[in-house]
Amino acid sequence: MRLAWHSGFASRTRDRFGGLGSIIMLHRVRPDCISPLGVTRSLSITPHFLDQILVSLKSEGTELVSMDEMADRVRSGSRHDRRFAAVTLDDGYNDNLHHAWPVFQKHNVPFTIYAAPGLVEGAAVLWWEVVEKLVAKATFIKIPGGGPEWRCGTLIQKRAAFHALMRYFSYTLTELDQVPVLREMCAAEGMICGVSADRDVMNWKELRQIASDPLCTIGAHTVHHYNLKRLTAGMVSQEMRLSADMLEDKLGKRPLHFAYPYGSAKAAGKREAEIAAGEGFLSAVTTRHGTIHPEHRANLHALPRISINGRFQKLVYAQTMMSGVTTPIANAGRRVVQA
Ligand SMILES: [Zn+2]
Repeated sequence: MRLAWHSGFASRTRDRFGGLGSIIMLHRVRPDCISPLGVTRSLSITPHFLDQILVSLKSEGTELVSMDEMADRVRSGSRHDRRFAAVTLDDGYNDNLHHAWPVFQKHNVPFTIYAAPGLVEGAAVLWWEVVEKLVAKATFIKIPGGGPEWRCGTLIQKRAAFHALMRYFSYTLTELDQVPVLREMCAAEGMICGVSADRDVMNWKELRQIASDPLCTIGAHTVHHYNLKRLTAGMVSQEMRLSADMLEDKLGKRPLHFAYPYGSAKAAGKREAEIAAGEGFLSAVTTRHGTIHPEHRANLHALPRISINGRFQKLVYAQTMMSGVTTPIANAGRRVVQA
C-alpha cells in the first residue's frame, strides 16, 4: 500500500477507482487500546489518528458529509468536483462520546453511529470482547453440555482458543444461543458475563447527549447484533424494524440508515438488502471493502466501506484504500462492490 501511494499510482488511479467517495468505518476511538490478547486491537484507533485522518481528507479537498448527504449524492447522480467521505462508527461504544466526538466537533465533521438497542440495554453483549477476557483469564475452556474444550495456559494457546471460539460462536452455535452459552462459561470462571463490556457501550442518556449534536446521525444496527444471514426472513425484518422503533422511541427520531452486524458476505447478502429497503431505510452499509460509485444508485442497501484498522494506524494506508486502488484486490478484480 505504501508503494502504491508513494509511487503516485494510487493518486493517479483515484478517478477511476475512487468513484464518488468513501464511507469510512470505525469502531472504537480511545487513547489506549486495551485488548488482553491483542486480538481485538484492529477495532481501536486513537483520537490523534482520527484527527490526522480528518486533517488529511480536508487538505486534499475531500468533502466530509453526513450519510443523508452521501445518499443524496448517490441517488441524484449529480456530478461533484470533489469526492466525499462519510464517517461511520459501529456499535455505539462510549469512547465515541468521550474521545471521538470532541475531534468531530473540532473539525466540524458529520458522523454516524450505528447503535443496537440490545447492546444498550444488556439483552445483547459484545460477546467477542467477553470471549477475549474469558480466554485471557482461564487456563482451560469448555463449552457447556459436552462441547469442545481448549487448553489455554500459554499466550499461543490462548490466541488459538480465541480464534477457535470465534468460529464456534459464529458458525456452530445458533445466534440465539451465543449469549446464554457465554453466560454459563463466564459463571464457571467466576466472571459476570458482559458487565464490563456493557459499560463500554453508551447508555440511552449518553446516546441522547451525542445525538443532540446536529453533526451526529444515529443509524440502526439491529436489536441483538445477530448475523442476519443465519436468521429467518421474518426475524430479519423484526430485528431491523424493532431496532428502528426503539431508537425512535428513545431518541425521538427514526433512523434512516442501517448497518448489518458483522457485515461480511457471510452476514449480509441480497435477501438482507431487499429487506432493509422494504423496511424503509435510505441506505444500508456492509463491512465489505470498497469505494462508492455511481453504480451504487441501484444498490444503496449494500454499500461497501473502508475500514480503518487499528493495527495499521498510518495515514498512507487510509489514503491508499480511499483512492479505491485496493478495491479490486480485495474483491476478485471488481471495481464496484455490491451485494
Ligand atoms: Zn457491530
